[in-house]
Amino acid sequence: MSIDPGELVGWYESAQRDLPWRRPGVSAWQILVSEFMLQQTPVSRVEPIWLAWTERWPTPSATAAAGPAEVLRAWGKLGYPRRAKRLHECAVTIATEYDDVVPDDVETLLTLPGVGAYTARAVACFAYSAGVPVVDTNVRRVVTRVVHGQADAPARARDLDDVAALLPDDETAPTFSAALMELGATVCTARAPRCGSCPLSRCRWRSAGYPAATTVRRVQRYAGTDRQVRGKLLDVLRGSDSPVVRGQLDLAWTSDTAQRDRALDSLLVDGLVEQTVDGRFALAGEGDDARDEGAR
Ligand code: SF4
Repeated sequence: MSIDPGELVGWYESAQRDLPWRRPGVSAWQILVSEFMLQQTPVSRVEPIWLAWTERWPTPSATAAAGPAEVLRAWGKLGYPRRAKRLHECAVTIATEYDDVVPDDVETLLTLPGVGAYTARAVACFAYSAGVPVVDTNVRRVVTRVVHGQADAPARARDLDDVAALLPDDETAPTFSAALMELGATVCTARAPRCGSCPLSRCRWRSAGYPAATTVRRVQRYAGTDRQVRGKLLDVLRGSDSPVVRGQLDLAWTSDTAQRDRALDSLLVDGLVEQTVDGRFALAGEGDDARDEGAR
Protein backbone atom coordinates (compact mmCIF):
# COMPACT_ATOMS: atom_id res chain seq x y z
CA MET A 1 0.00 0.00 0.00
CA SER A 2 1.26 3.48 -0.86
CA ILE A 3 0.52 6.93 0.56
CA ASP A 4 -1.10 9.56 -1.65
CA PRO A 5 1.39 12.49 -1.59
CA GLY A 6 -1.42 14.95 -2.32
CA GLU A 7 -3.38 13.87 0.75
CA LEU A 8 -0.38 13.95 3.06
CA VAL A 9 1.32 17.12 1.80
CA GLY A 10 -2.00 18.97 1.53
CA TRP A 11 -2.77 18.14 5.16
CA TYR A 12 0.72 19.18 6.29
CA GLU A 13 0.49 22.56 4.63
CA SER A 14 -2.45 23.53 6.79
CA ALA A 15 -1.88 21.43 9.93
CA GLN A 16 1.85 21.61 10.62
CA ARG A 17 2.95 23.02 13.96
CA ASP A 18 4.69 26.38 13.98
CA LEU A 19 8.06 25.18 15.25
CA PRO A 20 10.88 27.75 15.40
CA TRP A 21 13.36 25.61 13.46
CA ARG A 22 10.90 25.41 10.55
CA ARG A 23 10.65 29.16 10.10
CA PRO A 24 12.20 31.04 7.17
CA GLY A 25 15.77 32.20 7.69
CA VAL A 26 16.78 29.35 10.00
CA SER A 27 20.23 28.13 8.93
CA ALA A 28 21.35 24.56 8.27
CA TRP A 29 23.43 24.71 11.45
CA GLN A 30 20.43 25.74 13.51
CA ILE A 31 18.39 22.90 12.00
CA LEU A 32 21.21 20.51 12.86
CA VAL A 33 21.16 21.80 16.46
CA SER A 34 17.41 21.14 16.63
CA GLU A 35 17.91 17.58 15.38
CA PHE A 36 20.56 16.88 18.02
CA MET A 37 18.23 18.19 20.72
CA LEU A 38 15.11 16.41 19.45
CA GLN A 39 16.72 12.97 19.25
CA GLN A 40 15.42 11.87 22.66
CA THR A 41 13.63 14.92 24.02
CA PRO A 42 10.10 16.24 23.32
CA VAL A 43 9.51 19.42 21.33
CA SER A 44 8.10 21.32 24.33
CA ARG A 45 11.35 20.95 26.26
CA VAL A 46 13.59 21.60 23.28
CA GLU A 47 11.90 24.79 22.06
CA PRO A 48 13.03 27.27 24.79
CA ILE A 49 16.56 25.84 24.94
CA TRP A 50 16.92 25.92 21.14
CA LEU A 51 15.72 29.55 20.95
CA ALA A 52 18.19 30.72 23.60
CA TRP A 53 20.97 28.57 22.14
CA THR A 54 20.70 29.79 18.55
CA GLU A 55 20.47 33.41 19.65
CA ARG A 56 23.61 33.02 21.73
CA TRP A 57 25.56 30.81 19.30
CA PRO A 58 24.08 31.22 15.81
CA THR A 59 26.94 29.51 13.95
CA PRO A 60 29.22 26.48 14.30
CA SER A 61 32.22 28.76 15.00
CA ALA A 62 30.36 30.60 17.76
CA THR A 63 29.44 27.27 19.35
CA ALA A 64 32.99 25.95 18.97
CA ALA A 65 34.42 29.08 20.62
CA ALA A 66 32.06 28.71 23.59
CA GLY A 67 33.91 25.60 24.81
CA PRO A 68 32.44 22.30 25.99
CA ALA A 69 31.65 23.40 29.57
CA GLU A 70 29.47 26.33 28.52
CA VAL A 71 27.74 24.10 25.99
CA LEU A 72 27.03 21.54 28.73
CA ARG A 73 25.61 24.29 30.93
CA ALA A 74 23.37 25.61 28.17
CA TRP A 75 22.15 22.07 27.44
CA GLY A 76 20.48 22.32 30.85
CA LYS A 77 17.89 19.64 31.54
CA LEU A 78 17.53 18.27 28.01
CA GLY A 79 19.04 15.00 29.20
CA TYR A 80 21.48 12.60 27.54
CA PRO A 81 24.28 15.20 27.86
CA ARG A 82 26.67 13.26 25.67
CA ARG A 83 24.70 14.84 22.85
CA ALA A 84 25.89 18.28 24.00
CA LYS A 85 29.50 17.20 23.96
CA ARG A 86 29.14 15.65 20.52
CA LEU A 87 27.36 18.77 19.26
CA HIS A 88 30.29 20.88 20.41
CA GLU A 89 32.72 18.52 18.64
CA CYS A 90 30.54 18.72 15.54
CA ALA A 91 30.66 22.53 15.70
CA VAL A 92 34.47 22.46 15.94
CA THR A 93 34.72 20.15 12.91
CA ILE A 94 32.38 22.25 10.76
CA ALA A 95 34.08 25.50 11.80
CA THR A 96 37.59 24.24 11.12
CA GLU A 97 37.15 21.83 8.22
CA TYR A 98 34.09 23.10 6.37
CA ASP A 99 34.49 26.86 6.57
CA ASP A 100 31.60 27.16 9.04
CA VAL A 101 29.11 25.69 6.55
CA VAL A 102 27.17 22.49 7.29
CA PRO A 103 27.82 19.94 4.49
CA ASP A 104 24.75 19.23 2.35
CA ASP A 105 25.22 15.57 1.41
CA VAL A 106 24.41 12.55 3.53
CA GLU A 107 27.80 10.88 3.04
CA THR A 108 29.75 13.87 4.40
CA LEU A 109 27.24 14.56 7.15
CA LEU A 110 27.70 10.99 8.37
CA THR A 111 31.39 11.68 9.02
CA LEU A 112 30.63 14.49 11.52
CA PRO A 113 30.83 13.82 15.28
CA GLY A 114 27.48 12.81 16.74
CA VAL A 115 25.72 12.62 13.37
CA GLY A 116 24.12 9.24 12.74
CA ALA A 117 21.91 7.87 9.98
CA TYR A 118 18.82 9.72 11.12
CA THR A 119 20.41 13.13 11.75
CA ALA A 120 22.38 13.09 8.48
CA ARG A 121 19.23 12.48 6.44
CA ALA A 122 17.14 14.91 8.47
CA VAL A 123 19.65 17.73 7.91
CA ALA A 124 20.02 16.94 4.20
CA CYS A 125 16.23 16.87 3.83
CA PHE A 126 15.07 19.72 6.09
CA ALA A 127 18.00 22.12 5.59
CA TYR A 128 18.88 21.40 1.95
CA SER A 129 15.64 19.96 0.54
CA ALA A 130 17.28 16.68 -0.46
CA GLY A 131 14.80 13.98 -1.49
CA VAL A 132 16.19 11.34 0.88
CA PRO A 133 14.22 9.04 3.19
CA VAL A 134 14.20 10.17 6.83
CA VAL A 135 13.18 7.55 9.38
CA ASP A 136 12.51 8.28 13.04
CA THR A 137 10.16 6.47 15.42
CA ASN A 138 7.18 8.53 14.24
CA VAL A 139 7.79 7.76 10.57
CA ARG A 140 8.42 4.09 11.33
CA ARG A 141 5.11 3.84 13.21
CA VAL A 142 3.05 5.47 10.42
CA VAL A 143 4.62 3.25 7.77
CA THR A 144 4.20 0.13 9.92
CA ARG A 145 0.48 0.88 10.24
CA VAL A 146 -0.32 2.16 6.76
CA VAL A 147 1.85 -0.20 4.72
CA HIS A 148 2.22 -3.31 6.89
CA GLY A 149 -1.04 -3.25 8.83
CA GLN A 150 0.63 -3.66 12.22
CA ALA A 151 0.19 -1.51 15.32
CA ASP A 152 3.87 -0.99 15.91
CA ALA A 153 7.17 -2.69 15.27
CA PRO A 154 10.79 -2.39 16.35
CA ALA A 155 13.36 -0.81 14.03
CA ARG A 156 14.08 -2.99 11.03
CA ALA A 157 16.77 -2.96 8.37
CA ARG A 158 14.13 -2.50 5.69
CA ASP A 159 12.71 0.72 7.20
CA LEU A 160 14.81 2.99 5.00
CA ASP A 161 13.82 1.11 1.85
CA ASP A 162 10.15 1.17 2.91
CA VAL A 163 10.18 4.94 3.27
CA ALA A 164 12.26 5.45 0.11
CA ALA A 165 9.61 3.51 -1.82
CA LEU A 166 6.89 5.87 -0.57
CA LEU A 167 8.69 9.12 -1.43
CA PRO A 168 7.30 10.99 -4.44
CA ASP A 169 9.81 11.30 -7.25
CA ASP A 170 9.62 15.09 -7.50
CA GLU A 171 10.33 18.31 -5.63
CA THR A 172 7.66 17.57 -3.01
CA ALA A 173 9.78 14.72 -1.52
CA PRO A 174 11.27 16.83 1.35
CA THR A 175 7.83 18.13 2.34
CA PHE A 176 6.44 14.60 2.13
CA SER A 177 9.14 13.44 4.57
CA ALA A 178 8.39 16.28 6.99
CA ALA A 179 4.67 15.56 6.71
CA LEU A 180 5.11 11.84 7.42
CA MET A 181 7.01 12.71 10.59
CA GLU A 182 4.43 15.31 11.61
CA LEU A 183 1.59 12.84 11.10
CA GLY A 184 3.28 10.36 13.43
CA ALA A 185 3.98 13.05 16.03
CA THR A 186 0.54 14.63 16.11
CA VAL A 187 -2.12 12.25 14.71
CA CYS A 188 -0.82 8.71 14.35
CA THR A 189 0.60 8.66 17.85
CA ALA A 190 1.81 5.56 19.67
CA ARG A 191 -0.85 5.36 22.35
CA ALA A 192 -3.93 7.10 20.93
CA PRO A 193 -3.96 7.48 17.14
CA ARG A 194 -6.68 9.89 16.03
CA CYS A 195 -7.80 7.97 12.96
CA GLY A 196 -10.93 10.11 12.70
CA SER A 197 -8.73 13.14 11.95
CA CYS A 198 -6.26 11.32 9.70
CA PRO A 199 -5.80 12.75 6.19
CA LEU A 200 -4.93 9.36 4.69
CA SER A 201 -7.80 7.64 2.94
CA ARG A 202 -6.01 4.28 2.93
CA CYS A 203 -4.41 2.55 5.91
CA ARG A 204 -3.91 -1.17 6.17
CA TRP A 205 -4.01 -1.23 9.98
CA ARG A 206 -7.32 0.66 10.07
CA SER A 207 -8.79 -1.55 7.30
CA ALA A 208 -7.78 -4.66 9.25
CA GLY A 209 -9.68 -3.47 12.34
CA TYR A 210 -6.65 -2.35 14.37
CA PRO A 211 -5.03 -5.71 15.22
CA ALA A 212 -3.24 -5.59 18.57
CA ALA A 213 0.50 -5.06 18.80
CA THR A 214 2.59 -8.21 18.93
CA THR A 215 5.50 -6.54 20.71
CA VAL A 216 5.34 -5.20 24.25
CA ARG A 217 6.41 -1.57 24.63
CA ARG A 218 8.90 -1.05 27.40
CA VAL A 219 8.20 2.06 29.45
CA GLN A 220 11.47 3.75 30.31
CA ARG A 221 11.60 4.92 33.88
CA TYR A 222 13.90 7.72 34.98
CA ALA A 223 13.59 7.98 38.77
CA GLY A 224 16.36 6.08 40.50
CA THR A 225 18.31 5.28 37.33
CA ASP A 226 21.98 5.99 36.70
CA ARG A 227 20.77 8.63 34.24
CA GLN A 228 19.10 10.50 37.05
CA VAL A 229 22.23 10.30 39.22
CA ARG A 230 24.40 11.54 36.35
CA GLY A 231 22.02 14.46 35.94
CA LYS A 232 22.26 15.33 39.65
CA LEU A 233 26.06 15.27 39.56
CA LEU A 234 26.17 17.42 36.43
CA ASP A 235 23.76 19.89 38.06
CA VAL A 236 26.33 20.47 40.82
CA LEU A 237 29.08 21.14 38.29
CA ARG A 238 26.87 23.32 36.08
CA GLY A 239 26.09 25.49 39.07
CA SER A 240 29.73 26.09 39.92
CA ASP A 241 32.20 28.23 38.01
CA SER A 242 35.17 26.46 39.58
CA PRO A 243 36.05 22.80 40.25
CA VAL A 244 34.29 21.22 43.25
CA VAL A 245 35.53 18.80 45.88
CA ARG A 246 34.27 15.22 45.96
CA GLY A 247 32.16 15.91 49.07
CA GLN A 248 29.97 18.37 47.17
CA LEU A 249 29.21 15.73 44.56
CA ASP A 250 28.56 13.10 47.23
CA LEU A 251 25.76 15.25 48.67
CA ALA A 252 23.94 15.17 45.33
CA TRP A 253 23.00 11.48 45.75
CA THR A 254 23.21 9.89 49.15
CA SER A 255 20.79 6.97 48.91
CA ASP A 256 23.10 4.60 47.01
CA THR A 257 26.80 5.40 47.18
CA ALA A 258 27.81 2.60 44.81
CA GLN A 259 25.41 3.94 42.20
CA ARG A 260 26.75 7.46 42.72
CA ASP A 261 30.35 6.26 42.23
CA ARG A 262 29.34 4.36 39.10
CA ALA A 263 27.60 7.42 37.69
CA LEU A 264 30.60 9.65 38.38
CA ASP A 265 32.94 7.13 36.77
CA SER A 266 30.78 7.01 33.67
CA LEU A 267 30.79 10.82 33.41
CA LEU A 268 34.59 10.77 33.58
CA VAL A 269 34.80 8.01 30.97
CA ASP A 270 32.42 9.91 28.68
CA GLY A 271 34.59 13.01 28.97
CA LEU A 272 31.74 15.11 30.35
CA VAL A 273 33.59 15.62 33.65
CA GLU A 274 37.30 16.08 34.32
CA GLN A 275 39.37 15.65 37.44
CA THR A 276 41.93 18.28 38.34
CA VAL A 277 45.44 17.41 39.56
CA ASP A 278 44.39 18.24 43.13
CA GLY A 279 41.48 15.75 42.89
CA ARG A 280 38.56 18.10 42.40
CA PHE A 281 35.96 17.72 39.65
CA ALA A 282 34.93 20.07 36.83
CA LEU A 283 32.89 20.13 33.65
CA ALA A 284 34.75 19.14 30.48
CA GLY A 285 37.15 21.89 29.52
CA GLU A 286 37.21 23.49 32.97
CA GLY A 287 39.86 21.29 34.56
CA ASP A 288 43.52 22.19 34.98
CA ASP A 289 44.51 21.71 31.35
CA ALA A 290 41.95 24.22 30.09
CA ARG A 291 42.98 26.76 32.73
CA ASP A 292 46.65 26.32 31.84
CA GLU A 293 45.87 26.83 28.17
CA GLY A 294 43.74 29.85 28.94
CA ALA A 295 46.60 31.38 30.87
CA ARG A 296 49.04 31.02 27.99
S1 SF4 B 1 -5.69 5.84 9.86
FE1 SF4 B 1 -5.05 5.86 12.01
S2 SF4 B 1 -3.48 4.31 12.12
FE2 SF4 B 1 -3.75 4.77 9.96
S3 SF4 B 1 -2.22 6.34 9.53
FE3 SF4 B 1 -4.08 7.41 10.05
S4 SF4 B 1 -3.94 7.79 12.26
FE4 SF4 B 1 -2.42 6.23 11.75
